[in-house]
Amino acid sequence: MSNQNNLHPSIEEKINQLLAQMTLEEKIGQTNQPHTFGEPEKEAVRQGQVGSILNATSAFAGLGSSPSASAEVCNAIQQIAVKESRLNIPILFGRDVIHGYRTVFPIPLGMAASWNPELVELAAAVAASEASADGIKWTFAPMVDIARDSRWGRVAEGSGEDPYLASAMAAAAVRGYQGTDMSAPHKIIACAKHYVGYGGAEGGRDYESAEISMRTLRDIYLPPFHAAVNAGVGTLMAAFHDLNGVPLSAHRHLLTDVLRLEWGFKGFVVSDWASVEELVNHGIAKNRAEASALALFAGVDMDMVSGSYLESLGSVIEQGRLSPEVLDEAVRRILRIKFLSGLFDHPYTDPRRAATALLSKENRQVARLLAGQSVVLLKNEAGILPMDNRFRRVAVLGPHAHSQGELFGTWTPDGRSDEATSIAQAIQEIAPKGIDFIFADSNDESIRKVSLADVAIVILGEHPSRSGENSNVSDLGLPPGQKPFLEALVKQGVPVILIVLAGRPLAIPEEIHLSKAVLYAWHPGIEGGYALADLLFGNTNPSGRLPITMPRATGQVPIYYNHRNSGRPIGYQDFSYRYVDLPHGPLFPFGYGLSYTAFLYANLSISALAPSGPYEISAEITNAGQRAGSEVAQLYIRDRFASISRPVKELKGFQRVMLKSGETKKVTFRLNLSDLTFTGLDDLSILEAGEYQVWVGPNSQAGLEGRFELEL
Ligand code: BGC
Repeated sequence: MSNQNNLHPSIEEKINQLLAQMTLEEKIGQTNQPHTFGEPEKEAVRQGQVGSILNATSAFAGLGSSPSASAEVCNAIQQIAVKESRLNIPILFGRDVIHGYRTVFPIPLGMAASWNPELVELAAAVAASEASADGIKWTFAPMVDIARDSRWGRVAEGSGEDPYLASAMAAAAVRGYQGTDMSAPHKIIACAKHYVGYGGAEGGRDYESAEISMRTLRDIYLPPFHAAVNAGVGTLMAAFHDLNGVPLSAHRHLLTDVLRLEWGFKGFVVSDWASVEELVNHGIAKNRAEASALALFAGVDMDMVSGSYLESLGSVIEQGRLSPEVLDEAVRRILRIKFLSGLFDHPYTDPRRAATALLSKENRQVARLLAGQSVVLLKNEAGILPMDNRFRRVAVLGPHAHSQGELFGTWTPDGRSDEATSIAQAIQEIAPKGIDFIFADSNDESIRKVSLADVAIVILGEHPSRSGENSNVSDLGLPPGQKPFLEALVKQGVPVILIVLAGRPLAIPEEIHLSKAVLYAWHPGIEGGYALADLLFGNTNPSGRLPITMPRATGQVPIYYNHRNSGRPIGYQDFSYRYVDLPHGPLFPFGYGLSYTAFLYANLSISALAPSGPYEISAEITNAGQRAGSEVAQLYIRDRFASISRPVKELKGFQRVMLKSGETKKVTFRLNLSDLTFTGLDDLSILEAGEYQVWVGPNSQAGLEGRFELEL
């Protein structure tokens, strides 16, 4: 029922009936989305001038901002819409529920590091059930933008650099938010954003232009959106930026030809915050009226916040600058989602639900599980982790040792800092009895006291406001002062276990070198403290894997594993695409992550199920260590010779496998012909015969290698 890609005759009939009754002004009203709940907005609702309200106190909602949604507030406005407006069309309440609601999950980049779509789906379902209890029926998530340059602050909000992993996460999130029927009271409508190529912003500067070929767009940036559409996502958001000179909010080819005609998307597209009127700044419209005409014609059905549609679509249409059918179609799409999401049948939210739905014990458990699986163990010299009774005196130091809300990361307007447990507190609660803890209030005190300890757990990293929207950095190092602090601690001769909180992969080779063990924790959410303590003491075994390449230096970005081969690759004669001042390659490759146990791969087998594919590829994995653990087995391919240069590796499958000590399991992947297609010279999808390399292994730089020959 809820999949908007299939039309339902009875709903289409109801939409037609409504459209037949609507005035031009009422139609335009449906395309208008203001962002506050003030008296003027209430009056506008009464007049039929509002289709949706973006329930946010500011565009940069974040840590500590007060929650602005509640069932009572939403119901009161809804009552005006359904009782006092002429056509009684309900309002759709939207909000940025990006990685959890009151129960804050790891940032999306951290969720992707779990390589566990089932758990990400569950997290989205939890977020949907909490947000809907406060009257929200629409989230502006998942953000599915591929990012290859981690200077860009919004890398935190997506699933990293790989289209396959990001597509899996996109579909999982859509399923979690919407379920099989988005009209259920605990389900909300998802919004895949920011369509498309936003992560390609030049220089990693948010809102900047992106220059991306149509081929790269189709093979790298579009697939997660396509996956979201195939999963039935109800809405998409057009991005702020311009792509190859055409701002996305006016990009008819992508918004209509690709999204509607090629993919069959039947939901609606919302602009980004004021991106309709920003077409004037982009220099493709002289004023808000021109901007509105361009955006609506391109396929932006709803105007977020700018008010341009409300102000000018009437005159644009009356003057014949835009056909009324274009507006009718936009309204049709918006009403379709309103019907499918059950708003006409159940416009109100039960105000009693919030008392039990928010931050329940079960929801916290999901957050703890996901946080634990999102942390990536980057280094573990001499098996210093997990901590055992070698260490009786443990120092817990660093600027984030006692942080609470800082564990949340960007976009958590509904998280409450005092509901999070700090890492220091969680460590004390989880530690075995008999450990003495050493804490300090300042860096100086830390340096004075650290030598009293057998080991120091040092928590460094970025404040949440250093990533997310409008928060790019030009330097991927730790914030000022943190590296010298670490150096001073290490100088005291005590082994350091480093925990990094960050919204992006940082370039911190020296800090990693100085530390005996490193847990890369992203911003792990409300249960991050406990999840980290569990990992430190070996109650859980690290299983997160990098969803994005970790560079050695800022100067290496953009850096990503699925690049094309150079004519002069590394090792080619004396000339190659190296930097003379850096070792080649990433510090840690895409897919990388250690465990407290060791996994061995053996017996790669590749068999063609029919003469020209599909293929079945399998390998055996053995847990050769002493502890149970989960491995993320990854399948990569390389198309050796093609009509265009192809990536040196492409992820085509992954499986999370839990293995007891000594256990062996076989993982089997299916490689379909559709997995081998790519965008060819004429920008159309093609499949070419020829030789393919295959790897099954623990990351993008290791694994068992084989080959097959595709004959067509
Ligand atoms: C962001 C979107 C967000 C919207 C609504 C914009 O500034 O780019 O991702 O959904 O605001 O808050």
